Amino acid sequence: MYDALIIGGGPIGGYIAKGLAEKGHSVGVLEKGSEDRGKICCTGIVSKNCYQTYLSDKDLILKHGRSAKVYSPSGKLLNLNHKEDQAFIIDRNRLDSAIAADAIESGADFFYNHAVKNLDVLSDRVFVEYQNDTRVSSVEAKTVIIASGFNSGWFKQNRVKKDLNFTIGAQIEVYHRDTEEIEIYIGKHVAPGFFGWLVPLDDKRALVGLMTKNNPNKYLKDFLTLLDEQGKVANNGDKAAYRGITLQPPQRTYGERFIMVGDAAGQVKPLTGGGIYFGLLCADMAIKTIDRALNEDDLRAVKLATYEKEWKQKLNKEMQICRFARGVYSQLSNRQLDRLIDISNTFGIVDEITASDELDFDFHSRVIRKATTLPTVSKLLWRSIAG
Ligand SMILES: Cc1cc2nc3c(=O)[nH]c(=O)nc-3n(C[C@H](O)[C@H](O)[C@H](O)COP(=O)(O)OP(=O)(O)OC[C@H]3O[C@@H](n4cnc5c(N)ncnc54)[C@H](O)[C@@H]3O)c2cc1C
Repeated sequence: MYDALIIGGGPIGGYIAKGLAEKGHSVGVLEKGSEDRGKICCTGIVSKNCYQTYLSDKDLILKHGRSAKVYSPSGKLLNLNHKEDQAFIIDRNRLDSAIAADAIESGADFFYNHAVKNLDVLSDRVFVEYQNDTRVSSVEAKTVIIASGFNSGWFKQNRVKKDLNFTIGAQIEVYHRDTEEIEIYIGKHVAPGFFGWLVPLDDKRALVGLMTKNNPNKYLKDFLTLLDEQGKVANNGDKAAYRGITLQPPQRTYGERFIMVGDAAGQVKPLTGGGIYFGLLCADMAIKTIDRALNEDDLRAVKLATYEKEWKQKLNKEMQICRFARGVYSQLSNRQLDRLIDISNTFGIVDEITASDELDFDFHSRVIRKATTLPTVSKLLWRSIAG
């Protein structure tokens, strides 16, 4: 019997496996995908702080992100410039493999092609059923960490059956022509309520993607046509990939002998859908709680509740403000979005914000607060919303 079984060997599951193994616990990771992982549907943009805190030993940077271009629905341009790097574009496939390698080196067992089908929480252990090829087998552990990403409401102890507040990320790799910076495209025709992106990975390759609740296939096709017509991208034979993004945590992220972490727990930035940093941040809290509970041999829900209390203290307010801001943003028409870009350019609002200490790549509520305290923004935003 393992001390801890982790379901899902993505970045968050792998990171927790390493953390618990380093503390001397026996750890197994069940990952349904194969070791080569295929293509992971993720853009791989992380803040400088995230990279430096969690990933700097792994040599994953493909490109530095200091500036970005935002295009309004009618093609008006807003330049976001900063004097220092704000983010890095990292090799997402290598990220998962590198974290898994760390976990294995620390003593964790990693099982690929092991898809968990069910788990049963008993009074003294958890009984986990998985499928490997066509064979169904089982394994036991004192506790289970659910890090299986989007739509993890599949096991019966979890009362949340489905991710209700979610969007779908669609992405494809292309060749680009002279794209130096991250480009963001806003507008109902590109990604209603969200945004689209063109992100260079190197001199040749770029990722084109978007988030949308409905018709990701159609929106991605239309967006690619738009970029192609502008001479920015060319087909490189890649196939589009799609993945769900949870935008709201389930009601509870812990129970008897289990906790949920990462995308499985909705630990995602509601404005951008980015989940690597919040997931890793919460993974640290998960390691601390599980380590203590294992040492005290007390894995009751009441004990594991500390984990949720701690991560919600850090992120709940932030997520609420950002969800509200996204709600406002999604109400704006293309004409209003155009006006906002005009306003931002005319009044130097973005320069003011990017120069301020409030600018934080991970905690957007600070920028939202800052923006709404600028009289020009609040007045013009409300005027813009009012039409
Ligand atoms: C298009 C797109 C672009 C994105 N871009 C960014 C970005 O630029 N920056 C950023 O921070 N975030 C981004 N994200 C989000 C980011 O990818 C996730 O937040 C991150 O992958 C969460 O990691 P995780 O380990 O919690 O979950 P995942 O990475 O989803 O890992 C979960 C793992 O669990 C496995 N699994 C699932 N079910 C089972 C099962 N039953 N049994 C065993 N294994 C199972 C899966 O195979 C997977 O390997 C993007 C997402 C999308 C869709």
